[in-house]
Amino acid sequence: MAAVGDDCLFCRIVSGEIPAEVVAETEDAVAFRDLNPQAPVHVLVVPRLHVADAAELADRAPATVAALVGLGRQIAADAGHDSYRLLFNTGAAAGQTVFHAHLHVLAGRSMSWPPG
Ligand code: AMP
Ligand code: ZN
Repeated sequence: MAAVGDDCLFCRIVSGEIPAEVVAETEDAVAFRDLNPQAPVHVLVVPRLHVADAAELADRAPATVAALVGLGRQIAADAGHDSYRLLFNTGAAAGQTVFHAHLHVLAGRSMSWPPG
């Protein structure tokens, strides 16, 4: 069963129980700086709704997926970047470690492809 509430790190950040450097908040989402940044701008945009991953979010709240992407664009733009990378790691083999959906927003350096 998916972790929720007290068991979920990002639910605890969304509720304010665990501190984070919040950069934006909306009705649907909270955006905060990644603890282990991989670029000059590395922000996680997290739905307030607990869902395990982006696919479950798309099933349960598709408008929130669009809201996360829009907030990602705004965060990059506010930091002065019109090039940025938006990324949902989905599943452990793809690098997902926190099973509360989150959009990575990375900007501020040139990036290569494919990712590791
Ligand atoms: P993922 O590997 O896609 O599940 O991403 C999880 C991200 O959460 C990683 O980039 C971590 O650095 C980040 N992270 C873990 N704990 C925290 C925390 N307490 N505050 C901010 N970011 C965190
Ligand atoms: Zn959660």
